[in-house]
Amino acid sequence: MLAVPREEFVADALRSEAYDDRPLPIGAGQTISQPFTVAYMAQAAELLGDEKILEVGTGSGYGAAVLSHLGAKVHTIERIGSHARRASDTLLRMGYVNVQVHLGDGSLGLAAESPFDVIVVTAGAAALPPSYIEQIAEGGRIVIPIGKHRSEQRLHRFRNQRGTLLIDDLGSFAFVPLIGDEGWPTT
Ligand code: SAH
Repeated sequence: MLAVPREEFVADALRSEAYDDRPLPIGAGQTISQPFTVAYMAQAAELLGDEKILEVGTGSGYGAAVLSHLGAKVHTIERIGSHARRASDTLLRMGYVNVQVHLGDGSLGLAAESPFDVIVVTAGAAALPPSYIEQIAEGGRIVIPIGKHRSEQRLHRFRNQRGTLLIDDLGSFAFVPLIGDEGWPTT
């Protein structure tokens, strides 16, 4: 966590708050996740260093930067164009060459780059999107907030063990909604 300067991922006016352990606004009603949450999700993914990772919900790019220190390659996908472009610029400027930003509906995963050893979803879904099950490698982990309400979830970890999904409940969280074909509707 200390290796990634969080102030680089927020607006100038918020730089002085970058080391508070809370989410910060990044525009368009979205937030950069709380550092604790980013760390907790990365820990839950049980990364050893050689993993191909999909992060759904690029936002500021901060979470992708943290994950890039822990795995081999990070593909991160964002549905809002302005966020995707800004995150891509920030990550390039900072030299994160093993992170690739994609624009699109990440509720469908990223079939073209699958399978993934780890899928980390930084927005909340009502249920596990079937696309993730298709795109997770044998032995892989999916870390995703799931809840019946758009902004209230329990963090889940699904482990693909020879085609069976083993489930762990990792506690209560509040993420912005995952909006898309296999997520929530726009409104
Ligand atoms: N990991 C980010 C947190 C961003 S908040 C960071 O460190 O800053 C969640 C993000 O998920 C928002 O930017 C939101 O636009 C995005 N999102 C929501 N639904 C999505 C979808 N279906 N595909 C891709 N991104 C999505």
